[in-house]
Amino acid sequence: MRSAPPIARSPASGGEWRCVQCGQLLAVLREGRLHIRLTRGHEYLVGFPATSKCRTCGSLNEVRDATSLGAAPAGPGR
Ligand SMILES: [Zn+2]
Repeated sequence: MRSAPPIARSPASGGEWRCVQCGQLLAVLREGRLHIRLTRGHEYLVGFPATSKCRTCGSLNEVRDATSLGAAPAGPGR
């Protein structure tokens, strides 16, 4: 009898980097870096600033820092 520990997934702790055009999820914020998942198991952890081309619509997305992803701790304005 073993109790499965809760998986340490914290989707609410980080922001999501989405395409500005179509909303496709490009990466998720993980420990201050961007976790990019591609097909075939390719994964990347990249720092800021980062640029990525949307796989869906081809738009070029750029993010300067984590605060751009909505992970800022309640800052005034935007
Ligand atoms: Zn897109």
